[in-house]
Amino acid sequence: MEDAEKILTPLRELYRRDTNNRKLIAEYANNFKKRGVFLRSEVDFLVERLSAHKIELDVSLLQVKLLTVELVPSTCWFSNVRSHVNKSTWDFLRQSTYKQANFRCEVCGGRGKKWSVECHEIWHYDDRNYIQSLEGLIALCPSCQEVKHIGLAGIRGHGERAEAHLAKVNGWSQEQTKAYLEKVWQTWHERSHYQWNLELSWLEQYGINISPKR
Ligand SMILES: [Zn+2]
Repeated sequence: MEDAEKILTPLRELYRRDTNNRKLIAEYANNFKKRGVFLRSEVDFLVERLSAHKIELDVSLLQVKLLTVELVPSTCWFSNVRSHVNKSTWDFLRQSTYKQANFRCEVCGGRGKKWSVECHEIWHYDDRNYIQSLEGLIALCPSCQEVKHIGLAGIRGHGERAEAHLAKVNGWSQEQTKAYLEKVWQTWHERSHYQWNLELSWLEQYGINISPKR
């Protein structure tokens, strides 16, 4: 049996038995078919329901969408979308992002307590030509957003909290988390030696044209 079937067969069984939760079970199974991975909140829910119905599924097969840390090199701080557009444009961009994500975190599937999600800018770093280009905007819960900027979290005294969230979402041990963060900081140090040019053409699809001045 293929791995996908090893997951979908028990989920079909769960769908049949757990009649009160059919809508969510079907939604999560479909999300998995589309993305090939689950969000942390989906796994937590499904594992709980499967065990309630004593349906066996090898949990190690359930791949979780990984939360990554994206440290902005010290030489490009403040080079963000927000500082290149006016407030109403930024509000339009972030509100569209939230709506598309149904006000849920696009990594863990969760929602914040005080506010549900924040808008995160995804950057690609071209390490040859030193171009920092915008690749998209996604909705993240405040806890995942804090992990993205774990350096800032550390300065604010929330480093441990951020590390714990990173480990939880990815299902990593403390050692795995530490090893990953070490690599992240190494890349950050390397990138922080250079001046980066900002590339915001991703925004053109919204009719927003910016030629960043540095
Ligand atoms: Zn999240």
